[in-house]
Amino acid sequence: MLSALNLITPEQQSRPYNFAPGPATLPFPVLSQIAADLYNWQGSGVSVMEMSHRSPEFERIYHHAVTDLRELLQVPQNFKILFMQGGGLAQNAIVPMNIVQGKPTDFIVTGSWSERSAKEAMRYGNAQVVAHAKDSFSGFYGIPGEQGWEIRSDAAYVHICSNETIHGVEFYELPDLKALTGRDLPLVVDASSHILSRFIDWSRVGLLFAGAQKNIGIAGVTLVFVREDLIGKSIYTCPSVFDYETLAKTNSMYNTPPTFAIYVAGLVFQWIKEQGGVKRMQELANERSNMIYACIDESNGFYKNQVAPSARSKMNIPFVLQNDELSQIFVEQAAKHKILHIKGHKSVGGMRASVYNAMPVQGAVALVDFMKAFAKQYG
Ligand code: PMP
Repeated sequence: MLSALNLITPEQQSRPYNFAPGPATLPFPVLSQIAADLYNWQGSGVSVMEMSHRSPEFERIYHHAVTDLRELLQVPQNFKILFMQGGGLAQNAIVPMNIVQGKPTDFIVTGSWSERSAKEAMRYGNAQVVAHAKDSFSGFYGIPGEQGWEIRSDAAYVHICSNETIHGVEFYELPDLKALTGRDLPLVVDASSHILSRFIDWSRVGLLFAGAQKNIGIAGVTLVFVREDLIGKSIYTCPSVFDYETLAKTNSMYNTPPTFAIYVAGLVFQWIKEQGGVKRMQELANERSNMIYACIDESNGFYKNQVAPSARSKMNIPFVLQNDELSQIFVEQAAKHKILHIKGHKSVGGMRASVYNAMPVQGAVALVDFMKAFAKQYG
């Protein structure tokens, strides 16, 4: 139990709502707990930042984090959980280095993150885009139909980004590659921006990775869930610190892990458990996102989100204003209403509301109230 968990302090009440895409808002009780632990973690006399990663204290922190995570996401025992460094982008190279086995790799592109993954993998072998959203839609506005995916018969794996953070496109269900191809083809999933917001069907996954700085905690640690049978098969030389086999054998302690980021992740996992687990996170994600999409759709075109309703992200909601000249005024006025970091990614413009697990429902309510008032004033 986080001792600072249920304290709703005046500081929390007066904080603005932070809609940043990542690094992103943290649960306030987690921040309070970090503050309480900062100089002296649980009577140890030292801060977590000052502890050896091989100390019994840190071992406890690590053990709790990994146990809670396995429980929260119901991760089967035949998956190893690794805490790595290098972020999501490093995994774009680390995955092929570890599991490609000289075979081709196939990519489904639904936004800029999967596009970048494909480009990086091309540096390590025969990677190919086998379905591209722009061939089915006028932009990154949906997921191309699975029947059109031209997966190669000798592919080592198929990669997807299950939630595109910039374009707001989410797979509501992971593809069933066995049903689609008739063989046990591993699915590689970049779930960086919606992990822990819903359950994962592990029977469809070979490997899943996620950077921490959105729904897990702070930047510096990347979680990798990898099926045991995919480990130790690489035919390429991979730096030992990025070798899944080495990390699995050493409990992610081959070298010094990002200890503080792991400690924060552990606090976030405890917080999620105390809120009611992943089921509760999913309910809240539905509540927040439904409210914001309804506001956009009912604005008579003042606001617009073009993503197909079957793939609209529950975490990252991009929208544009019909009159783009109002965008700057929108951002400035939003800040005056305690709504921060709402500006869209520079590659797409407009706005983006990132509503991760730690965003209180009141934050979504505040945003919707502001959007309605703004549309009334300028519409
Ligand atoms: N994948 C996704 C879906 C992301 O949103 C991001 C970062 N926003 C990345 C990968 C890259 O993560 P990092 O900057 O930690 O390498």
